[in-house]
Amino acid sequence: MLLVQKYGGTSVGDLERIQNVAKRVLESKKPHDKVVVVVSAMSGETDKLLGYALHFDPLPDPREVDMILSSGERVTSALLAIALQTMGARAISLSGRNAGIYTDANHTKAHIEHIDTTRIHALLDDGFIVIVAGFQGVDSKGDVTTLGRGGSDLSAVALAGALRADLCEIYTDVEGVFTTDPRIEPRAKKIDRISYDEMLELASMGAKVLLNRSVELAKKLGVDLITRSTFSKDPGTLITKEENIMEQPIISGIALDKNQARVSMVGVEDKPGIASEIFGKLAEANISVDMIVQTNGYDGKTDLDFTIPKTELELAKNVLANFQNSVEKIDYDSNSAKVSIVGVGMKSHTGVASKVFGTLAKEHINIMMISTSEIKISLLIDIKYAELAIRSLHHVFELDS
Ligand code: ADP
Ligand code: ASP
Ligand code: MG
Repeated sequence: MLLVQKYGGTSVGDLERIQNVAKRVLESKKPHDKVVVVVSAMSGETDKLLGYALHFDPLPDPREVDMILSSGERVTSALLAIALQTMGARAISLSGRNAGIYTDANHTKAHIEHIDTTRIHALLDDGFIVIVAGFQGVDSKGDVTTLGRGGSDLSAVALAGALRADLCEIYTDVEGVFTTDPRIEPRAKKIDRISYDEMLELASMGAKVLLNRSVELAKKLGVDLITRSTFSKDPGTLITKEENIMEQPIISGIALDKNQARVSMVGVEDKPGIASEIFGKLAEANISVDMIVQTNGYDGKTDLDFTIPKTELELAKNVLANFQNSVEKIDYDSNSAKVSIVGVGMKSHTGVASKVFGTLAKEHINIMMISTSEIKISLLIDIKYAELAIRSLHHVFELDS
């Protein structure tokens, strides 16, 4: 068997925990298994490092940011290798570059282009446990890149795909994927199996237990993923093809995304091409726009409201400053949150939306924006009601029973 295991930030959060991961790796490995372990930085480390960069400049040079951020994962990979060596195992750490992970040059949000697995295969054949620093790669110039926050999940799935691993296990600080974040709703239930599509929606809508891009890639490569806890023996959640799942509930889960900022452009000229110009400029700056609402035109004008990640607000303000003179005003609001209800059963059941709206109305929660897909309903609401909304919806859809 060739296994890829990924251990997240909390799992390697201190030296004792790294020791515990080393034990866990050895326990789960049968004598002939080949094991690649991907690690995150110690929890809080990436934020700390980013804070250093932001101390000097609110929009620091992304190339330099990557030099700084990539160090966190290198530290944990080498520490784990040393811990394993002291237990008598052959282990070696590799940076993204050492591991042959090639990306584009899109610093801080790089995409993996290909993985040259020659060295990893050779090391596995020699009996090494290979520890790869997650979240990073190297571009064609040889510069280190990072894959975006939470990117170690993506490193693990991409490696599992490239190595044709039999299994990819994502070890974290909860026992799997729950019906909603168990830290918000303690009555949330662990899901045993979930389809790629539902997991992709949940992850894209804020359930950070898995990075959405890692789920997307797992689906594309047909890699079965298991999410489970580093701190218990629970078998976790299997993320797999829809066909492999017997019972399909109407609603599988509810996600919360607090990283939403709302931009309101009032009095935008109502003419063809204007939206393309605005969103084109945002796209050029690599800002991802999420929910969009455009009002009916009035006096040759229209209002355009949309959301972007809060973390990209400063950059967006810079970009949109170009439009300052051609609109009446631009407002920025970072007190909103997006709540999303996800389930494949929605495709064949009516009344889900009305039940959602009814539940929020009863709690006097105002809905600012709505967006839907075949298997999802998302609502933008005031951040102060976000947890109340989650708990009420969780109860109404009987996810706790
Ligand atoms: P890691 O550092 O291991 O990558 P993360 O913090 O990125 O871990 O993700 C795990 C966290 O995801 C959990 O601690 C939990 O609070 C949060 N989470 C959000 N939504 C869910 C969900 N639906 N199921 C499980 N965990 C969730
Ligand atoms: N350490 C990185 C982050 O905090 C990557 C990861 O943990 O997956 O975003
Ligand atoms: Mg994570």
